[in-house]
Order: sequence, then structure tokens, then C-alpha cells
Amino acid sequence: MSADDAWDALNDALAHTTPACEGRVLFTADRLSDDQRALCKSICARCPLFDLCDAYAITAKVESGYWAGHSYSPKGRK
Ligand code: SF4
Repeated sequence: MSADDAWDALNDALAHTTPACEGRVLFTADRLSDDQRALCKSICARCPLFDLCDAYAITAKVESGYWAGHSYSPKGRK
């Protein structure tokens, strides 16, 4: 799957589902504490968009933000 295809699939799903991360600055923060990371992870674990979000983050090689249970930076995902 290409990043464009993954984005289209995620975007289609977002038209019908508002994820719990929407509007939460933690998901776009440059740094997270261990507690903040655990909170984000627990939110993602219950998200119906998890697989689509994960597929987009991986195929697009995102370098920032928190996507589907992982933090991303120019150094990679953790
Ligand atoms: S899986 Fe993606 S869309 Fe869902 S809460 Fe986590 S970051 Fe947001």
C-alpha cells in the first residue's frame, strides 16, 4: 500500500469517526513523559482507526507525533 492509499483510507474513515486523539496536544507534542506516552498508548488501544492510522504512519514514514501506539521522530518510531 502506498502512503497516498493509506492516507485516503484513513481520511475516509475520519469522515465517519472522530478519534479520541483529535484536539489533544499530546499527540503532536515534541516530547512525552512516560506517563503521557502511556496515556496516548491507552487511547490508541481503544481506537477503531488504529490499523488505518498505523498503516499511514508507517507507509508515510512520519517523523513526528504520536500515531497508533508509537511516538515518531526523525530517529524513527518507538
Ligand atoms: S490510533 Fe491514531 S487516530 Fe486513533 S487515537 Fe491513536 S493516533 Fe488517534
